[in-house]
Amino acid sequence: MTTTVCRQCNADTELNRLGRVEGEDSGIHVAIEGLPTLDCTNGHKRFPTPEFPLQFIEQMMQSDGLITAEPAVEKGLFRKRSHCPSCGKELPGETTARSSHRVEVSLPENEPVAVELAVPVFRCPGCNRETTLSKTGVSRGVMQAVANAFRSADIPPG
Ligand SMILES: [Zn+2]
Ligand SMILES: [Zn+2]
Repeated sequence: MTTTVCRQCNADTELNRLGRVEGEDSGIHVAIEGLPTLDCTNGHKRFPTPEFPLQFIEQMMQSDGLITAEPAVEKGLFRKRSHCPSCGKELPGETTARSSHRVEVSLPENEPVAVELAVPVFRCPGCNRETTLSKTGVSRGVMQAVANAFRSADIPPG
């Protein structure tokens, strides 16, 4: 039997679902709707479990169709440059284009959460393929964008 009192003030909590929260980092934008939170009568919020934020991000990154552009290949030791994954040509350094997708992230013991993720896309000047940041660039940016979204809703991480 788990007790559901607020960790900050010991008031009773109630399971709630958050409205839309948004965050941005490295040109990546995320919007999340329906995150489960435990809200206390004095307005403090937290996630149902300390593991929840990480589980959510892992589950979200595994969702089919969330990111369709191919990750760029990074080369260079000191100054990293992005290259096309299929023809190897260097990609333009800047872009204003984004590719955006919406998915439902299913979570154990919780209702699915809707996620919209927009990532910057680059058009390869060689073969016209649509690419995005490198794999590490994407996962780092997504983690930070999601953390910013959590912070905007006043939820302490973990
Ligand atoms: Zn409280
Ligand atoms: Zn190419």
